Amino acid sequence: MSKELNEFLQSNLNDLKSKGLYNEIEPLQSANGPMIQVGGKELINLSSNNYLGLATDERLTTAAKEAIDKWGAGSGAVRTINGTLEIHLELEKELAKFKGTEAAISYQSGFNCNMAAISAVMGKKDVILSDELNHASIIDGCRLSGAKIVRVNHSDMEDLAAKAKEVRESGLYEKAMFITDGVFSMDGDIAKLPEIVEIAKEFDLMVYVDDAHGSGVLGHGHGTVKHFGLEKEVDFQIGTLSKAIGVVGGYVAGTQDLIDWLKVRSRPFLFSTAVSPADAAAAKRSLEILDADTSLNEKLWENATYFKEKLNAMGFETGISETPITPVIIGDEQKAQDFSKRLYEEGVYVKSIVFPTVPLGTGRVRNMPTAAHTKEMLDNALAIYEKVGKEFDLI
Ligand SMILES: *Cc1c(COP(=O)(O)O)cnc(C)c1O
Repeated sequence: MSKELNEFLQSNLNDLKSKGLYNEIEPLQSANGPMIQVGGKELINLSSNNYLGLATDERLTTAAKEAIDKWGAGSGAVRTINGTLEIHLELEKELAKFKGTEAAISYQSGFNCNMAAISAVMGKKDVILSDELNHASIIDGCRLSGAKIVRVNHSDMEDLAAKAKEVRESGLYEKAMFITDGVFSMDGDIAKLPEIVEIAKEFDLMVYVDDAHGSGVLGHGHGTVKHFGLEKEVDFQIGTLSKAIGVVGGYVAGTQDLIDWLKVRSRPFLFSTAVSPADAAAAKRSLEILDADTSLNEKLWENATYFKEKLNAMGFETGISETPITPVIIGDEQKAQDFSKRLYEEGVYVKSIVFPTVPLGTGRVRNMPTAAHTKEMLDNALAIYEKVGKEFDLI
């Protein structure tokens, strides 16, 4: 092994570990449902993005099995050679319907969508205004595009308007775009889309919304853009098939022209093999379920509201969330990790989230109650929270 590499790895790993910033990954010994098995222990799972419980839904697993029987295990090629199976097109048709757009294109992941879509449209002569709390994949997608990146203070509409004015008046750039998460994953707050759209009109900005945490959750399941009725105003609706939808993959929904362009110019579509038939079929089934029936969405909100209200009543600090994402903010990184560990010992699986995922000094555990939790599971988790919260002087 290279001596330089060895020294680099040793010193950086030791540094992270000594600061309590090193994340140990424990594998699940069961499916990622409302109860999970980890380290031989049965735990109440409050850490998944499986908002609606669809990851383990029998209707999806059946669709996946049938697709494997019909189409095989793999897609066989990138989409533009001959890896486009009819099941991919059926999924995309369903996605467009689900998002209220003319068309949609699917990718291997939500992360890939941001690698794909931003750089297919934006380049060196352009400027991107980007909310400072945007997801890592948006940040990377912006960098990849080579466009000038201007950070906008989080959900600060005055700052957005001021910076939009500045970049337009500078005369330095051609196209301009504003990118935001629909729902911010660490705090659970919602982007101010109606105001964003107004500002975008004034300064002729494209609007790009990555709704990974909003789809399946807001707008009776159809997402943040639908929640505000802005399907015609938002140019790019990005989403993932791996969170509430319960499978894996990502998509961009928009006009037919946008999707046609992405099909010829977005590199992950051109140079990376399509999602497997099982993934495409299960995701399509999931969307059909969400289209036909809002009961899972209602159950999610009922559970999340109940859980958050009880935590608040006990005196925990749950921040500014407007969605089922329920952080319990601790502050100190080490304390957040110790708190998570004690919850684990008592039977609740909730991961600590610390710097660099969230700003230093805002260490937290982030609860993701789902539609699949029973009231009994939530009550058991709350009792454990009360006990451990007192031990840590948090309540
Ligand atoms: C989770 C997430 C992604 C990544 O989605 P994957 O399908 O898991 O790759 C992208 N953007 C945002 C805002 C996310 O929250």
